[in-house]
Amino acid sequence: MALLTGKTALILGVANKWSLAYAIAQAYVREGAQVVLTYQSDRLKLTVEELGKEISPDVLVLACDVTVPEQLDALAATLKEKFGTVDTVVHSIAFANREDLSRPYVQTSRDGYLLAQEVSSYSLVAVSRAMLPLMPNGGSIMTLSYLGAVRVVENYNVMGVAKAALEASVRYLASDLGAQNIRVNAISAGPVKTTSARGIKDFSKVLDGVSAVAPLRRNTDPAEVADTAVFLGSNLGRGITGNVIYVDAGFQVMALALSQGS
Ligand code: NAD
Repeated sequence: MALLTGKTALILGVANKWSLAYAIAQAYVREGAQVVLTYQSDRLKLTVEELGKEISPDVLVLACDVTVPEQLDALAATLKEKFGTVDTVVHSIAFANREDLSRPYVQTSRDGYLLAQEVSSYSLVAVSRAMLPLMPNGGSIMTLSYLGAVRVVENYNVMGVAKAALEASVRYLASDLGAQNIRVNAISAGPVKTTSARGIKDFSKVLDGVSAVAPLRRNTDPAEVADTAVFLGSNLGRGITGNVIYVDAGFQVMALALSQGS
């Protein structure tokens, strides 16, 4: 039987077919979930609606800018009306100003810092709170993180600091919500060429550097991230909460590679 049969999943963060959230939505439909996608702004509405239809005619597409509390409330109200409950929430959202992903971290402006934190970290708290009334039977909440949360990755800068806060949030949310059988985890994905990633200076050099030294000697496939999201959303992940799971071809275990590229 499919792993997510009978589950309703809210997946936030599809912008186009390269989005990690798009790969996750495909895997969720494959595993039998009822999928709801959201789009950030009217500019993305048509694209996300078309992508949703391509995955399955049953995919529902709704608006949600996570920085607008009224839109989160409206999303929760629509989900309640249509489905009653939600089992899984996938938060695949981040944003920082381009200049903060290219100049030295010490130059980060106050506004740029707060913006990255609000969209990339605080929004997980806001989304979780909005969805809580819809998860009376427990469930699984997950977000997407990156190694820059715990190690310095050149140019990742303000986003690394936002991801550090995001991963700490995962632990506090897991502690808060565990008594309601809601699990909260992060998937720390290896670098993947998406629209967000292209905003980071020298991103293609990161891809080359990682594939040269990662134990699996390659980069991460979005489908691998998606399958881990399936695992966390399914009963198979029932014992895991407050964790950061690396799906990165093993790169994060490496400290020094003397035989780079071999
Ligand atoms: P992406 O650009 O396709 O996705 C980012 C999404 O965030 C977009 O859909 C965008 O619309 C959404 N978003 C931004 N601000 C928003 C707001 N105010 N309200 C609602 N949505 C908003 O890029 P992606 O790489 O798929 O990013 C998804 C997640 O994966 C991010 O958290 C990113 O940091 C994380 N991640 C990406 C990589 C990578 O290399 N691509 C690696 C590790 C983690």
